[in-house]
Amino acid sequence: MEPTPGHSRIQLAGRITPLSWLRKHPTEAAPLFARAKAEVGHALCLCRRPALRLVIRSTRAGRYHVAGWPGEGEKHDTGCPFHKLAPGLSGGYRDST
Ligand SMILES: [Zn+2]
Repeated sequence: MEPTPGHSRIQLAGRITPLSWLRKHPTEAAPLFARAKAEVGHALCLCRRPALRLVIRSTRAGRYHVAGWPGEGEKHDTGCPFHKLAPGLSGGYRDST
């Protein structure tokens, strides 16, 4: 299965929107980010059920972006852009004894 990052869906302030849209339209997305940040404090990644939390970050220029929740990277679907292996698990079974 090929990863399809553009199809990742993010829930922000009750609205479900593709991640690709958020990245392409930062100006239109800013109010959604601001509302989500004020109301719930985080966004949701819908790659899995139950949805996984995403950190909402803002820059001084007023731009927002989302990042994987600390320690939850390995919970995301393998095709999700927020998926990452937990530190220490990425080497697989490499017992040096
Ligand atoms: Zn995800």
